[in-house]
Amino acid sequence: MTKRPNIPAEIKRRVLVEAGHRCAIHTCKNPNVDIHHIIPWAKCQEHNFNNLIALCPNCHRRVHNGEIDQKSLLMYKASLVKREIKETDLENTQKSINNFSSNIESHQSVLLSEQNNNEYKYSIDFEYPHFIPNMGDLRQINVLLEAQAIKALLCERLRAFEQLFSETNHSDNLILKNLLEQGNAYASSFKIIVHTEGIITIRQSIYYYSSGAAHPNHFTTGVNYFRNPLISINLEHLFTDSLKALDVLSDYCIKILELENQDSEANEWVRDGAGRNWENYDNFVIDENGIIIFFHPYQVGSYAEGERIVVISSRFIFPLLKENTKLHLLWN
Ligand SMILES: [Zn+2]
Ligand SMILES: [Zn+2]
Repeated sequence: MTKRPNIPAEIKRRVLVEAGHRCAIHTCKNPNVDIHHIIPWAKCQEHNFNNLIALCPNCHRRVHNGEIDQKSLLMYKASLVKREIKETDLENTQKSINNFSSNIESHQSVLLSEQNNNEYKYSIDFEYPHFIPNMGDLRQINVLLEAQAIKALLCERLRAFEQLFSETNHSDNLILKNLLEQGNAYASSFKIIVHTEGIITIRQSIYYYSSGAAHPNHFTTGVNYFRNPLISINLEHLFTDSLKALDVLSDYCIKILELENQDSEANEWVRDGAGRNWENYDNFVIDENGIIIFFHPYQVGSYAEGERIVVISSRFIFPLLKENTKLHLLWN
């Protein structure tokens, strides 16, 4: 039996900051915390940020005696990401919703949930918004959001089913066998970033654990619409000179990402994944202060770093915009 190394200080700090140095179970918030491995150390044998969660001794005990299950922990972890982002980049998020002049429009939260404990194990909890009233372009957005949730559910079913017949499932590696027993888990939570008469943007935060993997993963997707008429926002079409805008965006993102890199070898990934290609810029969310670009895990770096985010200020983009877009109203 190999000795378990300590959690590296940098990772430990991130886990604590993510939870605000309090228990990650938001109704508890006890300031006295331990760090828990969602997929147990005995199975994963590594300290990965996505697999770690801050818990107070009381909640920690409830986890270990099975009162709070792994699936719930993934959901708590997914909601922490929301909080972390809100407290840093998106301080003004709430404002845009509160400022929304007419109180007629609002939304409810819908949870699409399915769990299978038979021969192939998986669970999915997909939380998405349902706008009220269910009329006009809000009804169209509702249809799209529901379809997106159902699609995720079907993909998870298919993935779990395919794993049943995969080679890895018949491996005789003990650690792998152990990990496969966990089953797949998928937890998604949302946050409405902008809701005005002209624009709706939503950020979907996803935590998923793939059976057989050593730790869970996290990524974000952005949903952005202009309203009346409903048009899916495509960055490429926002600018007078789209080639010039691509140059500016790409140069800026590469510079920021390279500054964050610890070793220059990783810069090659960055130049590739954030290079001058609109496909590299299709995952973003528009907020009151500008555009937040999400780079998928692997897109601009090695996997260990996970998802990378670059925030681009509206002031920076403003001069490049076409005239009189709905963004002018938002960013004025
Ligand atoms: Zn623990
Ligand atoms: Zn607690």
